[in-house]
Amino acid sequence: MDIKNVTVIGSGVLGSQIAFQIAYSGFKVTVFDINDEALVKAQRSMVTLTKSYERDMEVTDLELKETLSNLIYTTNLETASKEADLIIEAIPEIKELKINLYKQLATIAPESTIFATNTSTFLPSDFAAETGRPDKFLALHFANQIWLNNTAEIMGTAETDPDVFETIVAFSKNIGMIPLPLYKEQRGYILNSLLVPLLKSAEDLLVNEVADPETIDKTWMIATKSPRGPFGILDIVGLNTAYNIALSKDTDDSKKIAQFLKENYLDKGHLGIQSGQGFYTY
Ligand code: NAD
Repeated sequence: MDIKNVTVIGSGVLGSQIAFQIAYSGFKVTVFDINDEALVKAQRSMVTLTKSYERDMEVTDLELKETLSNLIYTTNLETASKEADLIIEAIPEIKELKINLYKQLATIAPESTIFATNTSTFLPSDFAAETGRPDKFLALHFANQIWLNNTAEIMGTAETDPDVFETIVAFSKNIGMIPLPLYKEQRGYILNSLLVPLLKSAEDLLVNEVADPETIDKTWMIATKSPRGPFGILDIVGLNTAYNIALSKDTDDSKKIAQFLKENYLDKGHLGIQSGQGFYTY
Protein backbone atom coordinates (compact mmCIF):
# COMPACT_ATOMS: atom_id res chain seq x y z
CA MET A 1 0.00 0.00 0.00
CA ASP A 2 1.40 3.30 -1.09
CA ILE A 3 0.53 6.51 0.69
CA LYS A 4 0.88 9.66 -1.38
CA ASN A 5 -2.08 11.90 -0.60
CA VAL A 6 -2.97 12.57 2.99
CA THR A 7 -5.98 14.39 4.42
CA VAL A 8 -6.08 15.77 7.95
CA ILE A 9 -9.55 16.40 9.33
CA GLY A 10 -9.65 19.03 12.08
CA SER A 11 -6.96 21.71 12.01
CA GLY A 12 -6.75 22.70 15.68
CA VAL A 13 -3.75 22.33 17.99
CA LEU A 14 -2.76 18.85 16.86
CA GLY A 15 -4.33 18.72 13.39
CA SER A 16 -2.35 21.76 12.19
CA GLN A 17 0.90 20.31 13.55
CA ILE A 18 0.23 16.90 11.98
CA ALA A 19 -0.60 18.45 8.60
CA PHE A 20 2.46 20.70 8.70
CA GLN A 21 4.88 17.87 9.62
CA ILE A 22 3.51 15.63 6.85
CA ALA A 23 3.72 18.47 4.30
CA TYR A 24 7.26 19.21 5.54
CA SER A 25 8.07 15.55 4.82
CA GLY A 26 7.13 16.07 1.15
CA PHE A 27 3.55 14.78 0.99
CA LYS A 28 0.56 16.64 -0.43
CA VAL A 29 -1.79 17.30 2.46
CA THR A 30 -5.41 18.39 2.31
CA VAL A 31 -6.61 20.13 5.46
CA PHE A 32 -10.33 19.97 6.21
CA ASP A 33 -12.20 21.98 8.83
CA ILE A 34 -15.83 22.90 9.40
CA ASN A 35 -15.83 26.50 8.19
CA ASP A 36 -13.73 29.23 6.58
CA GLU A 37 -12.99 30.83 9.93
CA ALA A 38 -11.38 27.61 11.19
CA LEU A 39 -9.33 27.36 7.99
CA VAL A 40 -8.09 30.94 8.27
CA LYS A 41 -7.00 30.08 11.81
CA ALA A 42 -5.29 26.94 10.48
CA GLN A 43 -3.39 28.96 7.88
CA ARG A 44 -2.23 31.30 10.63
CA SER A 45 -1.10 28.30 12.70
CA MET A 46 0.95 27.06 9.75
CA VAL A 47 2.78 30.40 9.56
CA THR A 48 3.46 30.22 13.32
CA LEU A 49 4.74 26.67 12.82
CA THR A 50 7.28 27.87 10.21
CA LYS A 51 8.73 30.05 13.01
CA SER A 52 8.85 27.11 15.44
CA TYR A 53 10.62 24.94 12.85
CA GLU A 54 13.09 27.76 12.16
CA ARG A 55 13.77 28.07 15.89
CA ASP A 56 14.01 24.37 16.75
CA MET A 57 15.16 22.61 13.57
CA GLU A 58 17.70 23.16 10.86
CA VAL A 59 15.33 24.16 8.06
CA THR A 60 15.87 26.23 4.96
CA ASP A 61 13.53 28.94 3.64
CA LEU A 62 12.99 26.79 0.55
CA GLU A 63 11.90 23.80 2.65
CA LEU A 64 9.40 25.95 4.54
CA LYS A 65 8.10 27.44 1.29
CA GLU A 66 7.65 23.95 -0.16
CA THR A 67 5.92 22.81 3.05
CA LEU A 68 3.35 25.59 2.78
CA SER A 69 2.82 24.87 -0.92
CA ASN A 70 2.11 21.20 -0.11
CA LEU A 71 -0.92 22.25 1.96
CA ILE A 72 -4.40 22.59 0.46
CA TYR A 73 -7.40 23.78 2.50
CA THR A 74 -11.08 22.89 2.09
CA THR A 75 -14.41 22.86 3.91
CA ASN A 76 -15.82 20.31 1.47
CA LEU A 77 -15.59 16.80 2.92
CA GLU A 78 -16.03 15.16 -0.47
CA THR A 79 -13.16 17.13 -2.00
CA ALA A 80 -11.08 16.36 1.09
CA SER A 81 -11.67 12.62 0.87
CA LYS A 82 -11.87 11.71 -2.79
CA GLU A 83 -8.14 11.30 -3.48
CA ALA A 84 -6.92 10.49 0.00
CA ASP A 85 -4.82 7.38 0.56
CA LEU A 86 -4.86 8.16 4.27
CA ILE A 87 -7.26 10.27 6.33
CA ILE A 88 -6.07 11.33 9.78
CA GLU A 89 -8.84 12.50 12.08
CA ALA A 90 -7.94 15.13 14.71
CA ILE A 91 -11.32 16.61 15.66
CA PRO A 92 -12.36 17.34 19.27
CA GLU A 93 -12.36 14.52 21.81
CA ILE A 94 -16.16 14.09 21.72
CA LYS A 95 -17.37 10.59 20.90
CA GLU A 96 -20.60 11.56 19.07
CA LEU A 97 -18.70 14.07 16.92
CA LYS A 98 -16.18 11.45 15.86
CA ILE A 99 -18.88 8.82 15.21
CA ASN A 100 -20.81 11.29 13.02
CA LEU A 101 -17.71 12.10 11.01
CA TYR A 102 -16.82 8.44 10.43
CA LYS A 103 -20.39 7.71 9.30
CA GLN A 104 -20.06 10.45 6.66
CA LEU A 105 -16.56 9.42 5.62
CA ALA A 106 -17.65 5.77 5.29
CA THR A 107 -19.92 6.71 2.41
CA ILE A 108 -17.75 9.27 0.58
CA ALA A 109 -14.11 8.15 0.91
CA PRO A 110 -12.78 5.59 -1.60
CA GLU A 111 -12.87 2.00 -0.35
CA SER A 112 -9.08 1.85 -0.34
CA THR A 113 -8.59 4.86 1.94
CA ILE A 114 -7.06 4.11 5.34
CA PHE A 115 -8.56 6.01 8.30
CA ALA A 116 -6.51 6.84 11.42
CA THR A 117 -7.70 8.54 14.59
CA ASN A 118 -5.48 10.74 16.75
CA THR A 119 -7.77 10.25 19.78
CA SER A 120 -6.05 10.48 23.16
CA THR A 121 -8.60 8.81 25.40
CA PHE A 122 -10.89 6.62 23.25
CA LEU A 123 -10.09 3.26 21.68
CA PRO A 124 -10.23 2.80 17.89
CA SER A 125 -12.80 0.02 18.47
CA ASP A 126 -15.15 2.75 19.82
CA PHE A 127 -15.52 3.97 16.20
CA ALA A 128 -14.44 1.01 14.03
CA ALA A 129 -17.96 -0.09 13.06
CA GLU A 130 -18.87 3.41 11.79
CA THR A 131 -15.89 3.64 9.44
CA GLY A 132 -17.32 1.04 7.04
CA ARG A 133 -13.76 -0.37 6.80
CA PRO A 134 -12.71 -1.75 10.22
CA ASP A 135 -9.81 -3.57 8.54
CA LYS A 136 -8.41 -0.22 7.33
CA PHE A 137 -8.85 1.68 10.58
CA LEU A 138 -6.50 2.23 13.51
CA ALA A 139 -5.18 4.85 15.91
CA LEU A 140 -2.12 6.92 15.05
CA HIS A 141 -1.41 9.06 18.10
CA PHE A 142 0.96 12.00 17.92
CA ALA A 143 2.28 14.17 20.74
CA ASN A 144 1.95 17.94 21.07
CA GLN A 145 4.93 19.74 19.47
CA ILE A 146 5.22 16.90 16.99
CA TRP A 147 8.46 18.24 15.45
CA LEU A 148 10.26 17.91 18.81
CA ASN A 149 8.30 15.11 20.47
CA ASN A 150 8.26 12.81 17.45
CA THR A 151 6.47 9.77 18.82
CA ALA A 152 3.79 7.96 16.83
CA GLU A 153 1.90 5.43 18.94
CA ILE A 154 0.21 3.02 16.52
CA MET A 155 -2.67 0.94 17.85
CA GLY A 156 -5.05 -1.19 15.82
CA THR A 157 -8.17 -3.12 16.82
CA ALA A 158 -8.54 -6.89 16.55
CA GLU A 159 -9.97 -6.21 13.06
CA THR A 160 -7.16 -4.03 11.67
CA ASP A 161 -5.43 -5.67 8.70
CA PRO A 162 -1.75 -6.33 9.64
CA ASP A 163 -0.68 -4.94 6.21
CA VAL A 164 -2.49 -1.68 6.98
CA PHE A 165 -0.77 -1.57 10.37
CA GLU A 166 2.65 -2.04 8.73
CA THR A 167 1.83 0.60 6.10
CA ILE A 168 1.22 3.10 8.91
CA VAL A 169 4.42 2.06 10.71
CA ALA A 170 6.37 2.74 7.47
CA PHE A 171 4.48 5.99 6.83
CA SER A 172 5.28 7.21 10.36
CA LYS A 173 8.99 6.72 9.69
CA ASN A 174 8.64 8.56 6.36
CA ILE A 175 7.25 11.61 8.16
CA GLY A 176 10.07 11.73 10.70
CA MET A 177 8.34 9.96 13.57
CA ILE A 178 9.57 7.12 15.77
CA PRO A 179 6.85 4.47 15.31
CA LEU A 180 5.76 2.85 18.59
CA PRO A 181 3.58 -0.15 17.72
CA LEU A 182 1.16 -1.56 20.31
CA TYR A 183 0.13 -5.21 20.01
CA LYS A 184 -3.36 -4.63 21.39
CA GLU A 185 -5.74 -1.86 22.41
CA GLN A 186 -4.85 0.00 25.57
CA ARG A 187 -6.59 3.14 26.85
CA GLY A 188 -3.93 5.86 27.13
CA TYR A 189 -1.58 3.96 24.81
CA ILE A 190 1.92 3.39 26.28
CA LEU A 191 2.91 6.91 27.31
CA ASN A 192 -0.17 7.86 29.33
CA SER A 193 -0.44 4.34 30.81
CA LEU A 194 2.97 5.04 32.33
CA LEU A 195 2.69 8.76 32.99
CA VAL A 196 -0.79 9.13 34.51
CA PRO A 197 -0.14 6.75 37.46
CA LEU A 198 3.27 8.38 38.09
CA LEU A 199 1.75 11.86 38.27
CA LYS A 200 -1.14 10.65 40.43
CA SER A 201 1.24 8.95 42.89
CA ALA A 202 3.30 12.14 43.14
CA GLU A 203 0.15 14.19 43.81
CA ASP A 204 -0.93 11.67 46.49
CA LEU A 205 2.45 12.02 48.23
CA LEU A 206 2.04 15.81 48.20
CA VAL A 207 -1.57 16.12 49.38
CA ASN A 208 -1.00 13.49 52.10
CA GLU A 209 1.90 15.67 53.32
CA VAL A 210 4.50 12.91 52.89
CA ALA A 211 7.02 15.22 51.18
CA ASP A 212 7.24 18.51 49.25
CA PRO A 213 7.34 18.76 45.40
CA GLU A 214 11.10 19.49 45.24
CA THR A 215 11.97 16.44 47.37
CA ILE A 216 9.64 14.16 45.41
CA ASP A 217 11.07 15.39 42.09
CA LYS A 218 14.67 15.12 43.34
CA THR A 219 14.08 11.53 44.42
CA TRP A 220 12.78 10.56 40.98
CA MET A 221 15.37 12.53 39.04
CA ILE A 222 18.43 11.31 40.91
CA ALA A 223 17.31 7.71 41.24
CA THR A 224 16.26 7.27 37.60
CA LYS A 225 18.60 9.83 35.96
CA SER A 226 15.56 11.67 34.56
CA PRO A 227 15.80 15.33 33.54
CA ARG A 228 12.44 16.11 35.23
CA GLY A 229 10.37 14.85 38.10
CA PRO A 230 6.57 14.49 38.21
CA PHE A 231 5.95 18.08 39.39
CA GLY A 232 8.23 19.47 36.68
CA ILE A 233 6.16 17.45 34.20
CA LEU A 234 2.87 18.68 35.71
CA ASP A 235 4.04 22.27 35.21
CA ILE A 236 4.48 21.48 31.49
CA VAL A 237 1.12 19.67 31.19
CA GLY A 238 -0.55 22.66 32.84
CA LEU A 239 -2.20 22.65 36.27
CA ASN A 240 -5.61 23.37 34.75
CA THR A 241 -5.40 20.08 32.86
CA ALA A 242 -4.13 18.30 35.99
CA TYR A 243 -7.10 19.75 37.90
CA ASN A 244 -9.61 18.65 35.24
CA ILE A 245 -8.18 15.12 35.19
CA ALA A 246 -8.42 14.88 39.00
CA LEU A 247 -11.95 16.29 38.93
CA SER A 248 -13.08 13.78 36.31
CA LYS A 249 -12.28 10.83 38.62
CA ASP A 250 -14.92 10.27 41.27
CA THR A 251 -12.70 9.03 44.09
CA ASP A 252 -11.93 10.62 47.46
CA ASP A 253 -8.19 10.94 46.83
CA SER A 254 -8.74 12.52 43.38
CA LYS A 255 -11.21 15.01 44.89
CA LYS A 256 -8.58 15.87 47.49
CA ILE A 257 -5.99 16.48 44.74
CA ALA A 258 -8.43 18.66 42.77
CA GLN A 259 -9.21 20.78 45.82
CA PHE A 260 -5.52 21.11 46.71
CA LEU A 261 -4.61 22.24 43.18
CA LYS A 262 -7.47 24.72 43.09
CA GLU A 263 -6.74 26.34 46.45
CA ASN A 264 -2.96 26.44 46.24
CA TYR A 265 -2.39 27.03 42.53
CA LEU A 266 -5.35 27.77 40.21
CA ASP A 267 -6.98 30.38 42.47
CA LYS A 268 -3.64 32.21 42.59
CA GLY A 269 -3.25 32.09 38.80
CA HIS A 270 -0.36 29.61 39.08
CA LEU A 271 -0.99 27.35 36.09
CA GLY A 272 2.50 25.98 35.39
CA ILE A 273 5.01 27.05 32.74
CA GLN A 274 2.31 28.85 30.71
CA SER A 275 1.76 31.39 33.55
CA GLY A 276 5.39 31.58 34.69
CA GLN A 277 4.55 29.95 38.03
CA GLY A 278 3.43 26.48 39.01
CA PHE A 279 5.21 24.13 41.39
CA TYR A 280 8.32 26.00 40.19
CA THR A 281 8.96 29.59 39.06
CA TYR A 282 9.88 30.13 35.38
P1 NAD B 1 -8.69 21.35 18.94
O1 NAD B 1 -9.95 21.70 19.64
O2 NAD B 1 -7.52 22.26 19.06
O3 NAD B 1 -9.00 21.22 17.36
C1 NAD B 1 -10.09 20.54 16.85
C2 NAD B 1 -10.38 21.03 15.43
O4 NAD B 1 -11.40 20.22 14.88
C3 NAD B 1 -10.86 22.47 15.37
O5 NAD B 1 -10.14 23.16 14.37
C4 NAD B 1 -12.34 22.35 15.01
O6 NAD B 1 -12.83 23.43 14.23
C5 NAD B 1 -12.34 21.07 14.22
N1 NAD B 1 -13.64 20.39 14.19
C6 NAD B 1 -14.63 20.42 15.09
N2 NAD B 1 -15.65 19.63 14.70
C7 NAD B 1 -15.29 19.10 13.53
C8 NAD B 1 -15.92 18.22 12.62
N3 NAD B 1 -17.12 17.71 12.86
N4 NAD B 1 -15.26 17.91 11.49
C9 NAD B 1 -14.05 18.42 11.24
N5 NAD B 1 -13.39 19.26 12.06
C10 NAD B 1 -14.02 19.58 13.20
O7 NAD B 1 -8.33 19.87 19.39
P2 NAD B 1 -6.89 19.18 19.49
O8 NAD B 1 -6.26 19.49 20.79
O9 NAD B 1 -6.15 19.42 18.22
O10 NAD B 1 -7.33 17.65 19.57
C11 NAD B 1 -7.78 16.95 18.45
C12 NAD B 1 -7.62 15.46 18.68
O11 NAD B 1 -6.24 15.18 18.92
C13 NAD B 1 -8.38 14.92 19.90
O12 NAD B 1 -8.86 13.64 19.61
C14 NAD B 1 -7.30 14.86 20.98
O13 NAD B 1 -7.56 13.85 21.94
C15 NAD B 1 -6.09 14.50 20.16
N6 NAD B 1 -4.78 14.87 20.75
C16 NAD B 1 -4.59 16.13 21.28
C17 NAD B 1 -3.36 16.45 21.84
C18 NAD B 1 -3.09 17.82 22.44
O14 NAD B 1 -2.06 17.99 23.12
N7 NAD B 1 -3.91 18.82 22.16
C19 NAD B 1 -2.31 15.49 21.83
C20 NAD B 1 -2.54 14.23 21.24
C21 NAD B 1 -3.79 13.94 20.70
